[in-house]
Amino acid sequence: MPMLQNVTILGATGTIGLNTLDVIARHSDRYRVFALTANSRVDELAQLCRQYRPRYAVMLDEHAAEKLQQKLQGSETQVLSGLEALEEVAAHAEVDVVMAAIVGAAGLKPAIAAAYAGKRILLANKETLVMAGSLFMQAVAEGGATLLPIDSEHNAIFQVMPPARLAALEDGGVKRILLTASGGPFRKASAAELMAVTPAQALNHPNWVMGPKITIDSATLMNKGLEVIEAHWLFNAPAEKIEVVVHPQSVIHSMVEYIDGSVLAQMGNPDMRTPIAYGLGYPDRLEAGVSTLDLFKVGRLDFETPDTVRFPCLRLAFDALRQGGTAPAILNAANEVAVDAFLKGNIGFQDIPRLIESVLTSMSIAPVTSIAQLIEVDTLARAHAMEWRQLEAC
Ligand code: NAD
Ligand code: MG
Repeated sequence: MPMLQNVTILGATGTIGLNTLDVIARHSDRYRVFALTANSRVDELAQLCRQYRPRYAVMLDEHAAEKLQQKLQGSETQVLSGLEALEEVAAHAEVDVVMAAIVGAAGLKPAIAAAYAGKRILLANKETLVMAGSLFMQAVAEGGATLLPIDSEHNAIFQVMPPARLAALEDGGVKRILLTASGGPFRKASAAELMAVTPAQALNHPNWVMGPKITIDSATLMNKGLEVIEAHWLFNAPAEKIEVVVHPQSVIHSMVEYIDGSVLAQMGNPDMRTPIAYGLGYPDRLEAGVSTLDLFKVGRLDFETPDTVRFPCLRLAFDALRQGGTAPAILNAANEVAVDAFLKGNIGFQDIPRLIESVLTSMSIAPVTSIAQLIEVDTLARAHAMEWRQLEAC
């Protein structure tokens, strides 16, 4: 690997993007920002371009790109727009590392492009694996890419797994994966209280500062459901070998249990700069600006079983994983529409699982054949979800 590595950050204006820039800024001797991308936030991206001077800045939205161009007049940064440009800066020959931190299904194609181009991929965008796990893992293998999970749980599992990727968990003496969950802000809420949850309440996560979509997913436990599917693809783990453990302190980020009775955990303060630094530096360790874990202050670690009656999204995700084929892509698309509708105040909190279940039962599940097919399924599932919303709104 070259001394100075070129990094593309897809989703630079988001929570993960900004945390990545924070870690990179601490190691300017090792990393150079090559491209920064965003959806539509011109002012934020312009500010980041002035600070980090990337070769390219990409806005998905064309008008936003024009505005960015005006703001960056005379600078060395070249402004591009559109989905193809996102793929280009993910696969560019001069890029070594791609941080995939776009939220939702929109992150799929650039992540696939980075995989085929053989990059070191720091994968935060879990929706890519949920939608297209088999095809993405195939692209990683064919492209000779290095895949490093950034989701804190999967990064933790990666750290305590046997070093070589296993064809089956048994080959490494692994008995199960224990995927920890904070339980979100409504861990103790009654069924009646859950019915009345507002977006403002759901956006208030107890342990982590994250973008709005994943924060709502954490409140419904869909985030943990998506992570079960993510773990399945990353670690070749069947559904029955992934156990979700509610751990409200978010100090243990996940565990792996071995056949000899050993349970290995990765611990730390809930700060995404730890997994980001791990992904950037791997196999080296980098200083990440994360404060020392004060175990005396933490005091105790609690564990509970998740409640899939109050939080049906977790059950729906397990079911979709067991069904396989296009089911997880449908689940993901319906969830994205549901979360958006909830945030806009159009549906209630407990309508989120109802909407998803309705879309999943109304569509037929097929084996996965191509990215184009998955994008069609995604579009169709979104249309079904919108229909449900309109029917329910009447
Ligand atoms: P965010 O909402 O803060 O940021 C999302 C980024 O994606 C922004 O830069 C935005 O401009 C860009 N974006 C949004 N829609 C886009 C589109 N259609 N096309 C191109 N770009 C688009 O989200 P986040 O919290 O940073 O999360 C990003 C991803 O990382 C998500 O998949 C999330 O599940 C995952 N993740 C986040 C955390 C966390 O702590 N925030 C932890 C684990 C995993
Ligand atoms: Mg996570």
